[in-house]
Amino acid sequence: MTTRSLFPSSYAAPDFQPGWVWLVGAGPGDPGLLTLNAAHALGRADVIVYDALVDERILDLASPKAELIFAGKRGGRPSPKQRAISLRLVELAREGRRVLRLKGGDPFVFGRGGEEALTLVEAGVPFRVVPGVTAGIGGLAYAGIPATHRDCNSAVTFITGHSVTGEVPDNLDWEALARGAPVIILYMAVKHMARIADKLIEGGRDPGEPVAFVSHAATERQQVVETTLGSAAEAAAQVEPPAVIAIGPVVSLRPALDWMAAAKGERVLIADLLGARRADEAV
Ligand code: SAH
Repeated sequence: MTTRSLFPSSYAAPDFQPGWVWLVGAGPGDPGLLTLNAAHALGRADVIVYDALVDERILDLASPKAELIFAGKRGGRPSPKQRAISLRLVELAREGRRVLRLKGGDPFVFGRGGEEALTLVEAGVPFRVVPGVTAGIGGLAYAGIPATHRDCNSAVTFITGHSVTGEVPDNLDWEALARGAPVIILYMAVKHMARIADKLIEGGRDPGEPVAFVSHAATERQQVVETTLGSAAEAAAQVEPPAVIAIGPVVSLRPALDWMAAAKGERVLIADLLGARRADEAV
């Protein structure tokens, strides 16, 4: 049986060479969101070092000969220290293996991919980065929330709710964000939602502003909680991490754009909400 390559015949798929590390984004969940390079790498890798956020179904694409190493936090067990993971990658590459470092979403978006890559550079280990669909864009899209919409926002701001110390980042000018960031997309922020909402409201943000929590986005366990900034702290209590949080007018498009609920027959989409249809016709 011949298998047809996923790549176009005019494209030379990158060669995964022994002794190399590929830092690969697995996307938020749905294996269909993998890039072709990610799927290709999964089939070639000798060893795959993966995080807790990587959807299990994606690991089915690994070669049966590949060694799978879990490097995340699960079931309350502490995660290996970041430095130890980076050094492990160096070690595995030096054994002459094809090392796939698989991370949830995109490796360079709040994923510490940069730190791992810097360790590889220091050690002289060659590497490639395969970007992935980040949860704050693709995960929200699976809930019918566009990161930008022409009528709503010309900018989007990604924020982590969790700094190195585990606290709400204090190196951010929350007042400026409240004034100048029309749509805010938060990662790792469920636990600190109360503080973040307070800071934004103190900075002048309307407590009535729509907020959506999208947990386990793009997986079979996806759940969406819609609320307002003023009630976001209580709503956070019902949300099981991991979740991305969208704050801003784009959240109001959900009744019109929740394509997944429509596909399941759970919702009839209403196109002219918020002038969505008008915007279309004006193109
Ligand atoms: N590199 C990842 C982010 C890692 S930080 C990316 O680009 O998506 C971990 C945070 O990502 C989680 O706390 C959560 O905010 C978000 N996240 C990752 N996968 C998610 C998913 N399937 N659903 C919702 N949020 C997710």
